[in-house]
Amino acid sequence: MSFHLEDHLYGSLKSIYNSSPQAFKSVIGRVYRSMPDSLRYGETYGHYLSLLEKSQWWSKKKILAYQWEKTKNLLWHAYNNVPYYKTLFDQRGISIANIQNFQDFKKIPFLTKNIIRENFTELLAKNYKKSKLIPVATGGTTGAPLTLYYEKGVSRPLEYAFTVHGLGRIGFRVGDRIVVIRGEVVKGANQKAPSYFDPIRNRLVLSSYNMIEENLPYYIEKIRKFKPKFLHVYPSSLVLLARFMKDYKVDYFPALQGIIASSETIHQWQFDLFQEVFKCNVFPWYGLNELVALAGACEFSSRYHLFPEYSYVEFVRDDDFNEDTHNKNICEIVGTGFGNYAMPLIRYRTLDYAIPTDAICKCGRNYPMMEKVVGRKQEFFVDKTGSLITFIYADVPLWSVKRMI
Ligand SMILES: [Zn+2]
Repeated sequence: MSFHLEDHLYGSLKSIYNSSPQAFKSVIGRVYRSMPDSLRYGETYGHYLSLLEKSQWWSKKKILAYQWEKTKNLLWHAYNNVPYYKTLFDQRGISIANIQNFQDFKKIPFLTKNIIRENFTELLAKNYKKSKLIPVATGGTTGAPLTLYYEKGVSRPLEYAFTVHGLGRIGFRVGDRIVVIRGEVVKGANQKAPSYFDPIRNRLVLSSYNMIEENLPYYIEKIRKFKPKFLHVYPSSLVLLARFMKDYKVDYFPALQGIIASSETIHQWQFDLFQEVFKCNVFPWYGLNELVALAGACEFSSRYHLFPEYSYVEFVRDDDFNEDTHNKNICEIVGTGFGNYAMPLIRYRTLDYAIPTDAICKCGRNYPMMEKVVGRKQEFFVDKTGSLITFIYADVPLWSVKRMI
């Protein structure tokens, strides 16, 4: 059995760790960080890191063969061990033996968030004991959150291996200093720039909810002192800081090598602004807690390269949506993840929208590509001209008012 300290920590130890004083955390965190990754993350982590070194250069044919093998194994597992799929396939007369390729695979009905909520217990694999599962709450600023179960010792180490490998394309190495501004509410509302240090990942996490102009010099000071190699941000949070630095001609952070922009759509003007102000690469990244799609930019291009070793992604057109937006190329991302046998999600509708492209990147990877991730359907509205307007942070102008209440 693979030993995976991180997932053991994830339950009871992690809550003790989280409620400990910062000084204690720093010592424990430093010791923990100095452990080899193989001990922290176990065999799965090492397996995928080595696989990705090779598989990133595979031909399209080899990639597809790999994905089909993974999908077929998942289907048999789902039919034999997961009551929801057994009932679904039997009721629909779907025989796994007759699903021979990805064309046949389309006969399987989509899985939605509502179906998961209504069939939660039936979606858990019978051959996984409760002690092999980790509960994970999926986020979402709107709608009811969804709880899922991950496979202990597999799902998170796998995800982490892909992340480390992907961010490696812009020079990230495990242990590098990162400043995080990703919509987190950090306690200490009376401070000008509330933050906490996460010594395990060597990250300084700054609150996204105190970024009014008078506080921004304190944010800048904290970042400058921390000397991060990377910023990991929601674009909408970083815009506030970038505009301020541009307007007041504040010096950039010399150690900064890249900006990882995730969770929200990054617009071209944001991209240009960040490059101008921070004088470093901007690296879009896309993933979700359901583990059915993961993508990031590369050394040469800001387009999203989907990891085909991670999941099988289908792009499904939504005609109503395309009519509203006057854009025929927007598709919903539908994914089948390979990294969670405890609660397999097959043909899961993410409600995330993207523009796929057949473009071939000069980096030489034959990965499926997305020109753009347009966003989450529930997180924007369409104006009269068909433009998409996100409403995360739409209340920014009201923040100062809210603070007075
Ligand atoms: Zn590329």
